[in-house]
Amino acid sequence: MIYLDYNATAPYSSSVKSFLRDEAENLWANPSSEYEAGVQLDSIIQQDREIIADFLGCPSGRLFFTSGATESISTVLSESNLKSFGLNSVISNKMEHYATLDNLKILGMQGFTIHWLENNEHGELDLEHLKVLCTENPNSLVSLLYVNNETGVINDVHEIVQIAHEQNCLVHIDGVQALGKVRFSIEDIECDFISFSGHKIGALKGVGLLFADEPKKVFPLIRGGGQEYGLRAGTYNLLGIHSFKLAVGDIDFNILSELRMMRDRFEERLLGINSKFGVNAEKSKRAPNVSNVYLGGCDARAILYQLSREGIMVSTGSACSSGTPEPSHVIQALGFDTDYAKSSLRLSLGALSTWKELQTTLAVLRGQFK
Ligand code: PLP
Repeated sequence: MIYLDYNATAPYSSSVKSFLRDEAENLWANPSSEYEAGVQLDSIIQQDREIIADFLGCPSGRLFFTSGATESISTVLSESNLKSFGLNSVISNKMEHYATLDNLKILGMQGFTIHWLENNEHGELDLEHLKVLCTENPNSLVSLLYVNNETGVINDVHEIVQIAHEQNCLVHIDGVQALGKVRFSIEDIECDFISFSGHKIGALKGVGLLFADEPKKVFPLIRGGGQEYGLRAGTYNLLGIHSFKLAVGDIDFNILSELRMMRDRFEERLLGINSKFGVNAEKSKRAPNVSNVYLGGCDARAILYQLSREGIMVSTGSACSSGTPEPSHVIQALGFDTDYAKSSLRLSLGALSTWKELQTTLAVLRGQFK
């Protein structure tokens, strides 16, 4: 199998694999129980939180475990939470993940105004427009991606936070695809909220993180117990949390330059197959593991199935929306029509990707376009 869909989910990282094999079966007690077995597991969670906070560059008291980035984002983008922070509108962008867009739809129905930040055809946000929106709408929440999951475009989150804070706006960053792909520290970014997901870096599915700079003001989405200092109730997902810490420990930034080289070489060779082919957001600053390619009008879904028959896994849009025939909303938000979006394919590489795999993929594509 050739797995080129790391932005959908990553295989378990090496420490997570050993943990599942050697240790997980003994860690079944409830970490909130008062007897020794529970207390021990609770101390694992607290240590894991410390280690992850250290890696992310933030105080551990501002980091909360959730069931995934969708929950973290939904917590921030809820009516009660926005009210708790005295916010009356949201500034966001059409290229966001559905975890954000679907919450914005509800917020719009609940009376909040959603202001859409413009972007160009390369997927770059218009920060002059952001200045205008923040100036005209102080007390807004700015909610934007760090790295776009489909194009890999990296947004300048430092600049975004500076612009927003100058006008009294708060900032939430969807940091899911930046973790392990971009070196950053939350302390440097100075955002008010940032969301992460465990399974994108090789942890178990069903665990996420929310950083909140003012946790006492956060209105919990899930209530019913005192876990996570009341910010997120529910029995602890100990295996998920511990796997998150282990996966963070396995992040190796040294592989990124190799991934970039492979990705760039792949794109160069791909463009040589057919003069109508293109690379979406090619001119932008991109995460080194993502390649979103335009297949010259050919149906990308048909190519995806063909690649799948050859044991090669890629994507035509975000995993959450696959199964629906809608072409990628991100590619359409770049200003392209649905036919163009239907002809776009995403490959995303990760720790185990090799040039040989990309060569095999190129050979299959060459065969298709002979
Ligand atoms: N945000 C981005 C950019 C994503 O890529 C994803 C996953 O597809 C999510 C949010 C949702 O993350 P989770 O699967 O942890 O709910």
